Amino acid sequence: MKYKVKSEYSFPIIRNDKTYTVRVIRKDVKRASIAINHHGEIVLTSSSPYTKQEVVSFLQKNATILDKLLNKVSFISLKDHEIMLFGTIYEGVCIPTFQTNYKIEGNTIYYKEIHYIYQDALKEIAKQFEAFKQVFDQHINATISFRKMKTRWGVCYIRKKKIVLTTALVHVPKDLIQYVIVHEFCHFIEANHSKNFYLEVKKYYPNYLDARKKLKQYSCFLP
Ligand SMILES: [Zn+2]
Repeated sequence: MKYKVKSEYSFPIIRNDKTYTVRVIRKDVKRASIAINHHGEIVLTSSSPYTKQEVVSFLQKNATILDKLLNKVSFISLKDHEIMLFGTIYEGVCIPTFQTNYKIEGNTIYYKEIHYIYQDALKEIAKQFEAFKQVFDQHINATISFRKMKTRWGVCYIRKKKIVLTTALVHVPKDLIQYVIVHEFCHFIEANHSKNFYLEVKKYYPNYLDARKKLKQYSCFLP
């Protein structure tokens, strides 16, 4: 269920010598929460209207969580018009009358509507998945689907022979996507994150420790 935004405002704050934008969103949510969006803004969502002063005291009360979140995203922060596609930052130029869905020219993406870019990106990820299906045991014959996920890059439903990946992978470099796919396929061999599980992962993706670390830098894209 998606809640409608009732009101929204923003203001700057200084935290650990850095300036951040705090975006205050009023929605019918159960409880107030903070998150960092992919523009590096601190987003406070709540159902009751918070004044600037109340927001500041809320952030102070939740300082530990806030710093944890800010540390996670210190690597990536996009400007308003920027697009992160497969780990590369592009300048996004929206032209509603553009003759094709989108076009990449150097570091710029011209596009009619942004979802056309991500639609194709998901198709590319699905192709990667199909390629790995050949590598892994054929009898698994797993299917793939995408959906938005809050905390995970992928899920493996062993009995249903189904792997679900988050749509946020469109922002992640392709070598890290491969790790996510390998990881999920290995769950067909070992269900839990045991020592044996990672031995399997290592067979197909030797540099998995490095990939896992790098992937964390992109966690700000998980909505
Ligand atoms: Zn797993």
